[in-house]
Amino acid sequence: MSSEVTSMKDAKKQAPLKAAPAPKVKNGIKVLIIEDEKALVDALVYNLDREGYEVTVAHDGQDGLRKAQSLPDIILLDIMLPGINGIEILRELRGNEKTKSIPVIVVSAKSEETDQVVGFSMGADDYVTKPFSVKILLQRINALQRRAEVPTKEGQGPVELIEHKQVKVDMVKHRAFILDEELDLTPTEFRLLECLLRSPGRAFSRQHLMDCAIGEGAIVLERTIDVHIKTLRKKLGSMDMIETVRGLGYRFKE
Ligand code: CA
Repeated sequence: MSSEVTSMKDAKKQAPLKAAPAPKVKNGIKVLIIEDEKALVDALVYNLDREGYEVTVAHDGQDGLRKAQSLPDIILLDIMLPGINGIEILRELRGNEKTKSIPVIVVSAKSEETDQVVGFSMGADDYVTKPFSVKILLQRINALQRRAEVPTKEGQGPVELIEHKQVKVDMVKHRAFILDEELDLTPTEFRLLECLLRSPGRAFSRQHLMDCAIGEGAIVLERTIDVHIKTLRKKLGSMDMIETVRGLGYRFKE
C-alpha cells in the first residue's frame, strides 16, 4: 500500500461531517504533512482539502524529506517520526539551498519548553502542541501563508528596500544583505529583521515582535522570540546591531 494519501476518500468515510461547502480558492497552495499518526493525518487532509489547499502526505521522515524536494509552500512537521525525526528533518531542510525558505510549522506531542526552543532554534516558523484543534492549526497556516505571500504590509506603501547602516532588506525579492553579502535567514528571522529595521531606535516588546514575525495570536512562549533573536544575531555576526531592552524586548541600533 502506498503511504501517500492523495485522495480524500479515507478521511471522508470516517468524518461524520455534513456536505462540505464549496472550497475557497487558495490558488493551489501546497501543504506537505509529515506525520505518522493516521487519524490526525486524515483529519488534517480532510480539512485542508476543504479549504482548497493541495495536500501531500509523508508518513515517515525519509519520505518527508524526499517530498519536500518538490517545494511545498508550507510544511507541517511532526517531531516523533519513524526513521528520521522531525528535528533532523528541519536541520536538513534548513541546510539545503532549495528548501531553506519553506515555512515550517512543527506539530508535536512534546509540550516541553525545551522542545519548542529546539524547534525554533532549528528554524521552525511556528509550533503547535498536540492535541490541538484543527481550527487553530488552520488559522496558523493561513497566517503563515499570508505572511509568505505578502511581503509588504498594508498602509506602508510599496516599500521595496529597507536599509539602515549596512543592513539591507529587499522586500520584493525577499532577500537580506549585510555589506552586500546575502544573509541566510529563516522566514521568521527575515520578518523579525524587517520589523526591527523599519524603525531603528524603537524599542519593541517581545509580544509586538512575535505578532510581527510569527503572526498575531500565535500561542508561543515569550522565550521563543529570544531564540529567534539569538539565531538572527549570530547571522548578523560582527554587524549585530540588535540591542536588548531590559524588561521589554529589543531594538535595532539607531
Ligand atoms: Ca508522531
